[in-house]
Amino acid sequence: MTGKKEKSSEKREKRLQEISLLRTIPYSDHQRWWSEETLAVVTGANRGIGFEIARQLAGHGLTVILTSRDTGVGIEAAKVLQEGGFNVDVHQLNILDDESVSEFTKWIKEKYGGVDILVNNAGVNYNLGSGNSMEYAKQVIETNYYGTKNMVKAMIPLMRPSAAGARIVNVSSRLGKLNGRRSRIEDEALREKLSNLETLSEELIDNMVSTFLQQVEDNTWQSGGWPQKFTDYAVSKLAVNLYSVLMANQLAGRPEGGKIYINCYCPGWVKTAMTGWSGNVSAEHAADTGVWLALLPNKEVTGKLFAERRELKL
Ligand code: NDP
Repeated sequence: MTGKKEKSSEKREKRLQEISLLRTIPYSDHQRWWSEETLAVVTGANRGIGFEIARQLAGHGLTVILTSRDTGVGIEAAKVLQEGGFNVDVHQLNILDDESVSEFTKWIKEKYGGVDILVNNAGVNYNLGSGNSMEYAKQVIETNYYGTKNMVKAMIPLMRPSAAGARIVNVSSRLGKLNGRRSRIEDEALREKLSNLETLSEELIDNMVSTFLQQVEDNTWQSGGWPQKFTDYAVSKLAVNLYSVLMANQLAGRPEGGKIYINCYCPGWVKTAMTGWSGNVSAEHAADTGVWLALLPNKEVTGKLFAERRELKL
């Protein structure tokens, strides 16, 4: 290992230990704003980080709706948690299928009346190691960005008013940083527009991803100034991060008692199917910042990107 790599690996190890310690400190009654009536929906929760987020939220005493695009797989995953004594319900949900999203929304409304927490975890990535194929770019952008947006739009009207505020947590990535040192879009004028709340809009984000997909189709994306690593995935997560900033700003106008907070986080490089089990942190650790964000007693935090329970500059 080179000196620089060694240093960052030591730093990560230290932070992992700090977080393990933090996790042993129970929430006080004063911090615990939730109860078993508090309802958290987790997408793509049949495996990986999503399953762990569902397990940890249920472990904190909330009711968790474990969703899975495959009904049978979801039922099996939920059974594991139910047999552990957790309050877990299960429902089919494909975030790309309008019918599935609307059927799920109807079911939640009828059975529970509303939602308090939404964790947008479902996502895809088809590149491993130094691979950067655009073969699945459309699917990656659609699932990670448009699927997440579908869920945000479907769940906001169901979010229950409360003093603590409802919460949306998007499992995103530091690869989708707007001003990342190593991985960012090169077009400075576009970066400027995207970083300014006066000019940031849903249309601007949609246009950015459409331009990217058009270039993929025309096979001109290599000279388009897009992030170099896992390009399709980085663009999709950049769109998620920006959409969260935009939504946080729009939702900030809601009255006290009806607030909704929305944040993103990067779980790190995680040992799950997505990385071919080659990550350097466990799903248990990777779920931590998402759960911490969903339960934050300090409710004013919104429109931010986190990793390891710390804010990252977008
Ligand atoms: P996994 O591949 O293990 O799990 C992904 C989950 O998303 C699966 O449950 C999958 O369902 C589900 N999913 C995919 N497409 C859809 C869809 N259209 N509708 C509903 N569910 C869907 O990956 P991880 O647990 O590693 O990833 C979880 C999240 O973390 C993703 O958003 C990912 O981008 C993010 N992340 C992961 C990193 C890592 O190193 N692993 C790093 C940074 C971010 P099914 O089982 O049916 O395929």
